[in-house]
Formats: sequence, C-alpha cells, structure tokens
Amino acid sequence: MTAPAAFASLPERSRGRRHPEAAAPTRSNFQRDRDRIVHSTAFRRLVYKTQVFLNHEGDLFRTRLTHSLEVAQLGRSIARSLGLNEDLVEAVALAHDLGHTPFGHAGQDVLNECMAEHGGFEHNLQSLRVVDELEERYLPYNGLNLTFETREGILKHCSRRHAEMLEQREPGGVGRRFIEGTQPSLEAQLCNLADEIAYNAHDIDDGVRSGLITMEQLEAVPLFVRFRDDTLREFPQARGRRLLFDSIRRMLSQQVYDVIDATRARIAEHQPQDADEARRCPPLIRFSAEMREASTQLKRFLFKELYRHPQVNETTMRAKQVLSELFAAYVHAPAEMQAAFAERAADEGLHRAVADYIAGMTDRFAVREHERLTGRRLF
Ligand code: MG
Repeated sequence: MTAPAAFASLPERSRGRRHPEAAAPTRSNFQRDRDRIVHSTAFRRLVYKTQVFLNHEGDLFRTRLTHSLEVAQLGRSIARSLGLNEDLVEAVALAHDLGHTPFGHAGQDVLNECMAEHGGFEHNLQSLRVVDELEERYLPYNGLNLTFETREGILKHCSRRHAEMLEQREPGGVGRRFIEGTQPSLEAQLCNLADEIAYNAHDIDDGVRSGLITMEQLEAVPLFVRFRDDTLREFPQARGRRLLFDSIRRMLSQQVYDVIDATRARIAEHQPQDADEARRCPPLIRFSAEMREASTQLKRFLFKELYRHPQVNETTMRAKQVLSELFAAYVHAPAEMQAAFAERAADEGLHRAVADYIAGMTDRFAVREHERLTGRRLF
C-alpha cells in the first residue's frame, strides 16, 4: 500500500454512520462498508439485472454485477496510483447501481412515469434508499448503516427538489452538496469516471459480440480506430474477437493513464490539503481535454447505434409494458406483493411501496410476476 495522499478520504476521519457503532477490530470503516454491500441482497440481485442486454439474451453479456466489478477494478487501480482510498472506491463502485430497476434505463423511465404524482423515481436516489432503508439485515436499524463517505459516493446525481428533501431529513448530510454546489470526495468522483470508462468499453464488446454493431461501423469512432490500428501494427494477422479484445484492452489502459496524468496536473494546480478542501475545488478527477472529447464521441456513437438499435428498442418497449402493467396490478391488489412490501405501504404510501418492490426485482422475476398477474408472457 502506498501512503494515502493528503486529499484522500481517511477511514479514521469518516463523518461516521447514521447509527453510531463501535469500530470493527480488524477492518477500517470503508472496508466494513464494502463487506456489508457484498453481503446485501440487492448486490446478489445485480447478477440478474440488465445492463444493456437482457439477462436471458445470452450468458456472456455484462450484467449489472459484472459491470460493477469492472468499475471497482478500474477505480481501484486509478485510486492506487493517485494515493486515494481504494476501499472507499471499491465500496462506492460495488454499490453504485444497487438502485437500478430491472431492464436497465427503460425500467427507471417507467417507474418515474408511474411515480409522477408521488415524488418520482430516480435510480441514484433509489441506490441510496436501498442502503439506507430497504435492506433488512441488521437488528438495530433498517439498511446497511454505511458511512457518510460511501453514501455520498452512491448519490451521484440528485435533483434540487430531492436534495432539499434529504437535507430536511438529514441536515448537513448527503443532500447538502447539491444545494451548495460542491463536489463529492475524490474517491466518489473517480467512481463516476470509472463507470463511464467501463461501460464505454464493455458496450463496444457486447455490441459487437451480439452482432448489433459491426467492426466496420466502429470506423466512425476515432478513439477505437486508433487502438485497433495499434493492434494491427503489432499483430498484422489479428482478426475477429482477439482483434476486438486487444483494441479495447489498449483503449482501457490509455484511458486509465490519461485520467491519472490529467488528474495529477489538476491536483498540482489546486493543491487541496485534505479531503474537504478537495470537495470545495472544481472537479479534480478528469480526462484530458482530448480524451474527454474522444470519450464523448464514443458515447454518442453507442447511444445512436446500440442503445437505440431497433432490436434494443423492441425489447425496451416490451420491458416498459411489463413494468407499467405490473405497477398497475400491484396498486390494484397490494396483497399480491411480498408481505414486507404490502406492510410498507402503510408507512410509505402504496405507490412508493410498489415502486420499491418493482425496483428490487430481477429481470426474470419481473417477467414471471407479470405473467402470473396478467396471464400474458411478453418475453
Ligand atoms: Mg454504472
């Protein structure tokens, strides 16, 4: 372990947990958070939740679980070079998608529409809700009782309205920065960028593997072409999957080095003396200007050619139908939900309880429940 940098988050200086607990004898606060996340029910469900491709479309595509592991791996290796706290990065990375609904972003859009009159639905806020409220594992409290720093990292985005609601419940807590316009810890900023690096790379891989995008189409992505040409210079015979994988591998490495170099320069400019000073600086974890532009181009390509591919759109439409009909079915007959959620309706309101229940489902459980309640099978 390299010595932590002055601006790293230190577990011994944590702002603590909502319910105070004695320190663990052998683990730091952030290690303990990571362990609680790994043992949670929501974490295990990530294996059956869609990233882009539905879980049943193939065994080799990324799921939310493997995506989260890739974010943790990229995040940790960058954190180590920068002297940031690796355990905090790992905890945030493993938890960052816990609030995702079945069927990826399509699911969040549907729940948000269904909840329009009842406070809306937003997956970052839901991830926080999972670790703060919905996990039922410990006797003294609901949720996992994670440290402020891990919860801060999980709440990546938040509307002003939701931030004010959080601030009211928890003054000076994780909602505050969205009101003050400050940044989260550098570890949290890093997870955000590692997320982008991970999905850009693995969505090219899954996109080509699925046949929805071709190597020829990737000619339109200068970032990819650059590394594919590097591969071909070194291995002129390279073709097919190995050419794809080697090009992506080079692209990932270069993006990691780029973040490390650009961030070091930015930190040298601002010289934060501790983690709180880093929060008051502009965002410090970043790509160089050229890599930012290249990454944005790649994102635009994936959006147009993969996320909006007619075949993906078709699945998305059916997924939306499954979830909106499920939502209506449970609102009509709350007793069809698991007892814990049916009971929760009394405290949280029926609609919120239904949204929590559906958001926690895996893709296949949602499909089965939809079939059970409507008699129709859409997948
Ligand atoms: Mg993610």
